[in-house]
Amino acid sequence: MSASADVIVIGAGIVGAACADAIARDGLKVAVIESGAIGGGTTAACMGHIVVMDDSEAQFALTRYSSGLWHQLAAELPSEAEFTQAGTLWVASGEEEMAEARRKHAYYGKRGVDTEILDARALAEAEPNLRPGLAGALRVPRDSVVYPPWIARWLVERSGARVIHGEAVAASGTEVRLRDGTVCPAGAVVNATGVWAPRLTSSLQIQPRKGHLLITDRYPGFLRHQLVELGYLKSAHGHGSESVAMNLQPRATGQILIGSSRQLGVDSSEIEEHMLQRMLQRAMEYVPGLGQLPATRAWTGLRPCSPDNLPYIGPAAEDSSLLIAAGHEGLGITTSLATGTLIADLLLKRRPAIPAAPYFPGRVHAASH
Ligand SMILES: Cc1cc2nc3c(=O)[nH]c(=O)nc-3n(C[C@H](O)[C@H](O)[C@H](O)COP(=O)(O)OP(=O)(O)OC[C@H]3O[C@@H](n4cnc5c(N)ncnc54)[C@H](O)[C@@H]3O)c2cc1C
Repeated sequence: MSASADVIVIGAGIVGAACADAIARDGLKVAVIESGAIGGGTTAACMGHIVVMDDSEAQFALTRYSSGLWHQLAAELPSEAEFTQAGTLWVASGEEEMAEARRKHAYYGKRGVDTEILDARALAEAEPNLRPGLAGALRVPRDSVVYPPWIARWLVERSGARVIHGEAVAASGTEVRLRDGTVCPAGAVVNATGVWAPRLTSSLQIQPRKGHLLITDRYPGFLRHQLVELGYLKSAHGHGSESVAMNLQPRATGQILIGSSRQLGVDSSEIEEHMLQRMLQRAMEYVPGLGQLPATRAWTGLRPCSPDNLPYIGPAAEDSSLLIAAGHEGLGITTSLATGTLIADLLLKRRPAIPAAPYFPGRVHAASH
């Protein structure tokens, strides 16, 4: 490869694709190195829920910022991207979870994100297939759903990046070496290889967190919102070794995507029947009618999980000229666009729209020394 790329992005999942797109919009020449199919890694194995989350102030800031960028992009996305503003219903099974719904309502409201409390009756009207007896829900109307692998390809194409099919085996801030011995020089390099990022940047602490998903045949209108149990927060943000939570998504095709499971430190792609059964059982406790809908396919994916559940965005601890955009756990679709923009801001030494320091990789490196 000639020295013509200003920036090389390694990895063309949704995060690498968003980086390539944001950098190219600033007029820089980008090359993307991908060892598999564009969008074919974890990006092809997920739910595509664009969701504002409040596990920490830094997580809230990044998800809210990125969700806003998704809404701006929606106007340009072709229909294949399946952008649907379904909204999220955080479902409360009892009074304790209703108190959590109210806390979230206050937290989001104070920070300018519209939400609405639904009582038991309003919830039953909003989602007639939920079982009776639930306490209520928090509705977040601007949360959305997209089809990520298609969007990853679209963003790479739009960026005009040169796509190099090959496996990177070493990366610094100025060059990337491929398995076949080719050396690719660049003005800057971004490691966006998701769960595989530590192979190129050994200081990164990223563990795989395996998830299963199941999809039904087409039942348009069966669900109207993304439904998530409030107990999901314990599953997503604890670091227990194995958990399941009700997380259901109506796809634009009319199919229902059934999630979700988490197994920390498990990197096999095999489908584990006991996890599928636990997940389905949990979902049917909320939506009993799901048991009547034939499932057509199940698969797994690996979330790239950092110790504090925040992604790494910024200079690598061992080589500040190498930029990292990896470790987005279960929010990489949501936060991809903000990640791309923050990386472009760092490259151009521009003041970002939100503080970037909470996502710098050095935070974890420093904390563990
Ligand atoms: C079951 C499940 C459900 C999820 N649901 C959601 C959701 O609803 N909303 C949400 O926001 N997020 C969700 N996620 C998380 C989201 O999918 C990930 O955070 C996101 O896809 C990570 O994107 P990425 O680009 O970092 O990684 P990837 O998509 O894995 O991309 C990395 C790319 O790098 C390439 N690569 C790796 N090593 C090399 C190398 N050495 N050389 C060249 N190329 C290389 C890979 O081939 C791959 O294409 C979910 C994840 C799972 C598993």
